[in-house]
Amino acid sequence: MSAAASVVLGAVLRHGPIARSALARACGLSPAAVTRACAALSDLGLLVEVPEAVPYQGIGRPHVPVDIDTTRHVVAGIHVAHLHCTLTLVDLRGGVLVRREIPHGTPDDPHEVLTTAADQLLALHAERLPGHIPIGLGVAAGGWVDPAHGVIVRHASLGWRDTEVRDLLTARTGLPVRVDSHARALARAEQLFGAARGRESLLHLFVGNVVGAAIVTGGAAHLGPRAAAGDVAHLALGDPAVTCACGKRGCLEATVSDRAWATRAFRAGVISRPLIFDLVDAALAGSAEAKANLAERARLVGRAAAVLFDFLDPEVLVVTELGTNRLPSCAAALRDEVAAMSRASGDVVLASSFGEDVLAVAAGAVQLDALYADPLSIRNPVWQGV
Ligand SMILES: [Zn+2]
Repeated sequence: MSAAASVVLGAVLRHGPIARSALARACGLSPAAVTRACAALSDLGLLVEVPEAVPYQGIGRPHVPVDIDTTRHVVAGIHVAHLHCTLTLVDLRGGVLVRREIPHGTPDDPHEVLTTAADQLLALHAERLPGHIPIGLGVAAGGWVDPAHGVIVRHASLGWRDTEVRDLLTARTGLPVRVDSHARALARAEQLFGAARGRESLLHLFVGNVVGAAIVTGGAAHLGPRAAAGDVAHLALGDPAVTCACGKRGCLEATVSDRAWATRAFRAGVISRPLIFDLVDAALAGSAEAKANLAERARLVGRAAAVLFDFLDPEVLVVTELGTNRLPSCAAALRDEVAAMSRASGDVVLASSFGEDVLAVAAGAVQLDALYADPLSIRNPVWQGV
């Protein structure tokens, strides 16, 4: 029943609104099994009937379509970046309903950063969407994250070590808490709600202040026994002229991370402060020099992604990076570089589907991935008792 419910909810996510008869065909399940799964999912407030979606033809029994109910539940999310947390409330289709950025008070104190974020997120829920029941809280961050234990093992740019995020925030909020790397969370989000919908395998490369990758095959991201899979930060796929803090030359992160690239652009005189958002804003405002500078980063990212692509041979490659996210010219530069340097054709090289909401979606997707994998688990009284 649990497996059937997951298959049915996933099919409604992809195809809804959809009639139960069509759902049975899409899922390869018997009509009776689909009816049972739909009843259980409707009881939980995850599915809703939408009679208005298909006009009644007046002959025989109408096939009332079902769809994901986005009006009852939300998931809460916290994304931890180098300078700020993104707080969010996301609907069950991954739509960002509320988003707020708050700067870190004391960045080297994870307890303070996380409890402040959680308190403000609960206040935001009470203020903006009090009628929506939060299913749980997702926390996403860059670097090495262990989802099984709910721990940020190492956040490279903030210097956090072995931060027990799940235990801390479960106690603070009373919500079920899940923690994952933003590279893996966004890879699943692309499969569930984004351009990689319906694709079996995908490689995701996240380029921010931390550079990391995620490999998804089937319905799950590969973790590795230490949950450290996808650490590409110090692979020698960057500029050999750059020396990394780790002592090696040509590390990918030391070449293309937001901070590294902004510093490079600042030294080259393209921007007057070493801030990546200044560079993107200048490019968006029409500066040819800033655009060319960001396109150069997109090409460097593309060269690294090409190597990873040929190594893994996934169906699609998704790159989350500020320039390609905001500027079509950067997305084109990335696509052309990967296509030129690998077996990938240009149409399987995708920029992030989530635009300016990308960090919020990452946090929400940590919980939504779990929901779509096992929707009946929200029967758990903890989830209902909020
Ligand atoms: Zn390095």
